[in-house]
Amino acid sequence: MYLPDFDYYAPQTIQEACSLLTQFGDKAKLLSGGTDLMVKFKHGILAYEVLVSMKELNELKEISYQQGKGVVIGARATHNDLVNSTLLNEKYLSVSEAAHQMASNQIRHLGTVGGNVVNAVPSADLPPILIALGATITMVGPNGERSVPLEEFFTGPGRTVLAQNEIVTKFTIPDQPTTGSTYMKFGLRKSGALAVVGVASAVTMEGNIIKDAKIALGAVAATPLRARNTEALLIGKEYTDELLEQAGVAAAAESKPISDIRGSAEYRRDMIRVYTKRSLKAAITKGHC
Ligand SMILES: Cc1cc2nc3c(=O)[nH]c(=O)nc-3n(C[C@H](O)[C@H](O)[C@H](O)COP(=O)(O)OP(=O)(O)OC[C@H]3O[C@@H](n4cnc5c(N)ncnc54)[C@H](O)[C@@H]3O)c2cc1C
Repeated sequence: MYLPDFDYYAPQTIQEACSLLTQFGDKAKLLSGGTDLMVKFKHGILAYEVLVSMKELNELKEISYQQGKGVVIGARATHNDLVNSTLLNEKYLSVSEAAHQMASNQIRHLGTVGGNVVNAVPSADLPPILIALGATITMVGPNGERSVPLEEFFTGPGRTVLAQNEIVTKFTIPDQPTTGSTYMKFGLRKSGALAVVGVASAVTMEGNIIKDAKIALGAVAATPLRARNTEALLIGKEYTDELLEQAGVAAAAESKPISDIRGSAEYRRDMIRVYTKRSLKAAITKGHC
C-alpha cells in the first residue's frame, strides 16, 4: 500500500506553519509524529494535498517548570519524553505512567501529546489525566494565542474547538503540591491495547478528609468525561473504603458508554465502577505525586 502524493513543508517557526495552514486551507494538514495521520493517509481514510510537518519546531518539545504557572508540556513532546522526564517523574508521575501505558515503544517514540489530544479519540490515554490535573491547552493561530481548560477542548469524537489553521503549542498543569493523582487503564491486553475504560483521579486530602477531587473518565462517552456527581459525593467527606465503593457506583451511573468490539456498555460501566474505586484509592495513598 503506497502513500498518495502530497507536498511537504517543514517550516522553521510556528508563525510560518500557521501561514501555510491558512494559505492551503482544507487541503493542508499538520503532521506531528504521524503515528495516526500517516496510517489513515496510507489506508485512504484521509487525503490531503499538503502536509505541514512540525519536525523543526523544537521549542514545542520542551517540558519545563514555570514559576507561578506550573509544569508546561510542549505539544511535540513524545510519549517517551513524558515517560522519561525527570520533572514529570518528580511532580506528576501519573502523567509519565499514563504515557507508559500507551501503545508500543516504537509508537511512544514518535507519537506526541499534541497529536494524542487533537485526535480527540474517546479512548485516548492522555486527556483523562491532564483533565483531572486541571491542565489548560494553548493554541496559536493567525489571530494570536488562546488557552482553554482542556476539558472544554473536546466537542465530540474526532472534534475539538481547534480551528483548521491553529496549532496546539503546549499544556500547562497548575501547581498542586499536596494533590495525589493516578491514571488507571483497562485494556484487553496488558500492553499495546487501547483503553476499554480509563480513569484518572486527582485528590487533595486534609487529614482524613477529602478536600478536593477531580475524576476524568476515558472511553465511556463521546469525549473525556468529568465525573462531577462523583466528585461532589466525595468532597468534604471522610475517606473510607465504603465511600470509595459509593464513588465507583456513582461514576458508573454518570458514564455514557457505548458497546463496541472492545466491550459492551454494561461491561464498561462495571469496569468504571471498579477502576474509579481503585484509582481514587491509589491517588489518596500517593498523596504527593
Ligand atoms: C499501533 C498503535 C497503537 C496506539 N496505541 C495507543 C494507545 O495505547 N493509547 C492512545 O491514546 N493512543 C494510541 N495510539 C494513537 C496515536 O499513536 C496517538 O494518539 C499519538 O499520540 C498521536 O500523536 P502523533 O504525534 O503521532 O499525531 P499525528 O498522527 O501526527 O497527528 C494526529 C492528528 O493530530 C493533529 N495534530 C498533531 N499535533 C498537533 C498540534 N500540535 N496542533 C494541532 N494539531 C495537531 C494532526 O494534524 C492530526 O490530525 C496508537 C496508534 C497506533 C498506530
